[in-house]
Amino acid sequence: MRLVSYDDGRVGCLRDDRVYPLTGVPTMRALLENWAGAGLPAIEDGPGIPLADIRLRVPVADPSKIIAAPVNYRDHQAEMSVDSQVGALGFFLKAPSSLLDPDGTVQLPYHDRRFDQEGELALVIGRTARRVSEREALDHVFGYTGLLDITMRGGEDRSTRKSFETFTPMGPVLVTADEFGDPENVELRCWVDGELRQKANTRDLIWGVAQLVAYASTVTTLYPGDVITTGTPAGVGPLRAGDTIRLELSGLGADLAVLVADDEATASATSGRDSGPVPPPARPRRTDR
Ligand code: MN
Repeated sequence: MRLVSYDDGRVGCLRDDRVYPLTGVPTMRALLENWAGAGLPAIEDGPGIPLADIRLRVPVADPSKIIAAPVNYRDHQAEMSVDSQVGALGFFLKAPSSLLDPDGTVQLPYHDRRFDQEGELALVIGRTARRVSEREALDHVFGYTGLLDITMRGGEDRSTRKSFETFTPMGPVLVTADEFGDPENVELRCWVDGELRQKANTRDLIWGVAQLVAYASTVTTLYPGDVITTGTPAGVGPLRAGDTIRLELSGLGADLAVLVADDEATASATSGRDSGPVPPPARPRRTDR
């Protein structure tokens, strides 16, 4: 099933550009908390609602945590010129309050810092997981979605650099695991301002989905609704106000798109600009925008 959250957070099934409400489901979090015991709810009888008549919302608005893999593709490790990858670093956390609806606007907070896009495959937990094996791990995954891990470059802690308000666009759909297919063979493409910046396949993840879930569950209990984002491949690059970002993942059937603005940008409040991992240099933009 391809699920969406819409309007005030209610849940529907998306089919052919129409949304069919699910019976007795107030929010996606409620659906996920009941899923292990009760399965998926029924679809209400009726004609459905045209996609154009609803406002898409982030699929899970209130995860207890967003777990994120640092440096989980070798080509991204190479472009950042860093020695460490996920197997040495473990994971970091992004604040759930950084989530942004599909078609929302990423607000860059500072005018004197570099911010990059990171297109990623994310998964949503559906069954509580604590110390699960890799073999069991995927049984705890409810489904998959797209996620943009917007990142400030510099020497500050990752959890700061990636937790600014609006820095975690997610969606637009949450596809159940049975329908999504193999999460370790997903084509990922990400465009900024029409330029294809990232093109990869999740088979090249250093730690695959099952390994990430199993490892994370040795550190912390994973609850229904928790999000794990798998890391970004090569091709990160700077964002500027006016850009559009679009992320396509095979198996989702709908792209995640957001705008970039800097409406309230100020000077940076911290001093990490000239430290930390060094991202690839900005490439010249096309001038015909
Ligand atoms: Mn990332």
